[in-house]
Amino acid sequence: MVASAQHTIPHEITEEAKIALSHYPELTNTKIEFKFKKNIKKSTMQAQPSFWSVFKSKKKRSYNILISERIKIADSVYYTKDIPSEIMIGWLGHELGHVMDFEQRSGFNLIGFGFKYVTSKNYIREAERRADSYAVNHGMETYILATKEFILKEAGLTQEYVDRIKNFYLSPEEIMILVEERDAASID
Ligand SMILES: [Zn+2]
Repeated sequence: MVASAQHTIPHEITEEAKIALSHYPELTNTKIEFKFKKNIKKSTMQAQPSFWSVFKSKKKRSYNILISERIKIADSVYYTKDIPSEIMIGWLGHELGHVMDFEQRSGFNLIGFGFKYVTSKNYIREAERRADSYAVNHGMETYILATKEFILKEAGLTQEYVDRIKNFYLSPEEIMILVEERDAASID
């Protein structure tokens, strides 16, 4: 796998990030920094354009993928380094799906995106499903499904948390439909 000079990856997740990135050749020349953080509000990982780059031309735009040092799922806490590789790859693939989504937008549109994302549940739902769809359309369905299974089937999940995941993200059935559509489209 060819590592791009544009990508900064902490050593703990180098292999996983490289595999996820290999599914997105469009992002080879896009500046992306993966960073561990002590705490991220309400989520485990978060993709975002770096603040000032929103005001620059699209070519100069850069992104951060923030990763919580500890992954908290309902009442269980996992250290990121202990998460099985496959699940980490799926998680990173989903975040890169957000980056793909951001890449299609103007700087002005991104500012609106940030605002709507914090104010509208419907908007979050659409953004999360778009990120999943990008990952599936880039051939990452096995990883995405593994990540979902991990989140949904780990012991100790509250019903509220499971409902939130089901509500905001693509279901395994929806993923399979996307895979069929993708494969049908690539035949002709
Ligand atoms: Zn997401």
